[in-house]
Amino acid sequence: MKAYQFDEHGGPITAHEHETPAPEGAQVLIKVGACGVCHSDVHLWEGYFGLGGERRLDTRGSQKELPFTLGHEIVGEVVALGPHASGGASGVSVGDSRVVYPWIGCGDCAVCQRGDEQLCNRPAALGVNVDGGYADHVLVPHPRYLHDYGNAPAALACTYACSGLTAFGALKKVRDRAQGSYLLIVGAGGVGLAGVMIAQAIMDTEIIVADIDPAKLEAAKAAGATHLIDSREPDAGKQVVKMTRGGPLAVVDFVGNDASAKFATGCVGKGGLAVMVGLMGGELRMALPMLPLKNMGIQGSYTGRPDEMAELMALVRDGKVKPMPVAEHPLAEVGQMVEDLRDGKIVGRVVVTP
Ligand SMILES: [Zn+2]
Ligand SMILES: [Zn+2]
Repeated sequence: MKAYQFDEHGGPITAHEHETPAPEGAQVLIKVGACGVCHSDVHLWEGYFGLGGERRLDTRGSQKELPFTLGHEIVGEVVALGPHASGGASGVSVGDSRVVYPWIGCGDCAVCQRGDEQLCNRPAALGVNVDGGYADHVLVPHPRYLHDYGNAPAALACTYACSGLTAFGALKKVRDRAQGSYLLIVGAGGVGLAGVMIAQAIMDTEIIVADIDPAKLEAAKAAGATHLIDSREPDAGKQVVKMTRGGPLAVVDFVGNDASAKFATGCVGKGGLAVMVGLMGGELRMALPMLPLKNMGIQGSYTGRPDEMAELMALVRDGKVKPMPVAEHPLAEVGQMVEDLRDGKIVGRVVVTP
């Protein structure tokens, strides 16, 4: 099999030949049909998250070994099943097309047992901790991580494993507050755009999108956003507060840098909640009395639970989620795609296909 790997963090991502693995136990071998390129790939490749100023969170230890294969938004065809992977509730057979839930945990710890496998402290997430989908084949440890994606195109379906699920997990946290009111989405990159699409499927709300990039605002408008805010304008926050008569109760920051977090938390209305999703890196400084005085909350959200993936894919199969535009490129260009994403040159979602 061919895998596109890096040998050192920040180094070139190039083709490596390996023996195609045979699935053991409950493992399933997937022939990759498409794999989405995600901003997290930039951090995992560079080996750190910015923590504000010069401080960095080193993530180089998260990969089991180098060379490493990134890629956590995977769809493909089941080509081989381990001896314990067939039958039962899993119901997957050779030849089935499936999207892969990549946020795999140990399965045994208290976090996994309560259903938050994506937060496990001993993770084995595909394309993050163990080899992922920038390859022609990938091993999935159990058929329970595979989901039917109905009639959705493969190149779109793969994006639900991270950008879609991440948006869904965050939106569920603010759904009650946004219902019949306003939702402020900060950042219209790949995940923010998925948020615009999925919000329309799960809540009745007016969607305000703020971004610093006019092209991304245009994409948000096409996706169904009702109001656009150019957050480069000095009174952008005031515009949001005025429009919503006191500030939205539901705010999701899909960027996660100093400026976006300041903007997002500053816009929240009394009794509202700001959900922080983006991992661009930075820090938030705010006057503490504002938290009690505004009776507001700030919550983080990381990808989504296995049961949320099942819920999201049911919405997709039922045709409830509007399709997001994706640009397809050959897998051989994946290194360039990750660099372009780092340099902010990509609008919407890029998917690579072997
Ligand atoms: Zn991702
Ligand atoms: Zn665990």
